[in-house]
Amino acid sequence: MIRTSLRYHRPATPEESTAILVEYAGDVVVLGGGTMILPMMHRAEVEAGHIVDLRGLGLATVTEEGRYVRIGAMVTYGDLLDSDVVAREAPLLRRMAGAITGGNQLRNLATAGGAACYGNPSSDVPAVLVALGATMCLHGPAGERRVPAAEFFVDAFRTAVGGGEFLMWMEVPRLVVEVGYHKLKLCEGSGPIVTAAVVRDGGRTIATVGAASVTPLRFDLTSCVDSGVDTVDELIRDGVVNPWTDVLADGRYRRDVAGAVVRRAVADLREG
Ligand SMILES: Cc1cc2nc3c(=O)[nH]c(=O)nc-3n(C[C@H](O)[C@H](O)[C@H](O)COP(=O)(O)OP(=O)(O)OC[C@H]3O[C@@H](n4cnc5c(N)ncnc54)[C@H](O)[C@@H]3O)c2cc1C
Repeated sequence: MIRTSLRYHRPATPEESTAILVEYAGDVVVLGGGTMILPMMHRAEVEAGHIVDLRGLGLATVTEEGRYVRIGAMVTYGDLLDSDVVAREAPLLRRMAGAITGGNQLRNLATAGGAACYGNPSSDVPAVLVALGATMCLHGPAGERRVPAAEFFVDAFRTAVGGGEFLMWMEVPRLVVEVGYHKLKLCEGSGPIVTAAVVRDGGRTIATVGAASVTPLRFDLTSCVDSGVDTVDELIRDGVVNPWTDVLADGRYRRDVAGAVVRRAVADLREG
């Protein structure tokens, strides 16, 4: 039960949303699907007098916009799985959504945008957005601001979302590329210990590793994959310089297993 008094806002425009976020700064939270923020408020880990529900802004759509697929901040994992556009133009997003644990209840509520804004290193979402070269489109007091996903994830639980800002949508380039995905979990229902998204495009093979470090890490695998010399483990191990520790796994373990997770993602890419 949320024991503090709480005022619910359901703005109809981005400007109205930002005005509320500015007016109640420090005492307001944004509500996506609520799967993370509401339990935290129940446990009094987050206390706020105001909550801004983004459902009135029409952000639950997936659309094709020129060279991009635009994913609204309120698009759930279930929506990603159901979308023909995502299946055709951004299959890595579909792979990621299919790998999220928590069952249908979670998939029908939780949004990829909410996971991105929460900034938990132990998530499937950040590394996939970075791997795809996504752009995060924010709305704030100065209007729209676009931030590359690679710069959006600043630290553990810290993103580029500033005061009065919220995520409107994510733009993912429409790429005809080969992709592979793999994640290591503690058990069927656990969050990820290490994730790897591998993208091959124009002769280059790039792996983006998630959950091993506070923010996603990118590795150019082109030479080691093409030469057939298995130096992947060494490359990844040396690159995980600031490994992430939480209740799921110790940082040293994450660094040790990251190479194997990447190799499996490469195998997944090769299998098509
Ligand atoms: C049972 C269970 C299983 C899970 N399994 C996985 C898994 O396998 N892999 C994985 O990666 N994650 C997993 N998760 C985490 C899940 O991905 C997140 O809970 C979910 O995606 C968060 O999205 P939400 O829309 O519910 O966010 P909310 O709970 O609504 O919000 C999360 C945070 O982001 C902020 N926020 C939300 N939307 C916006 C916005 N548009 N702009 C600015 N700030 C915003 C909120 O203020 C809050 O701080 C699991 C969670 C549960 C409960």
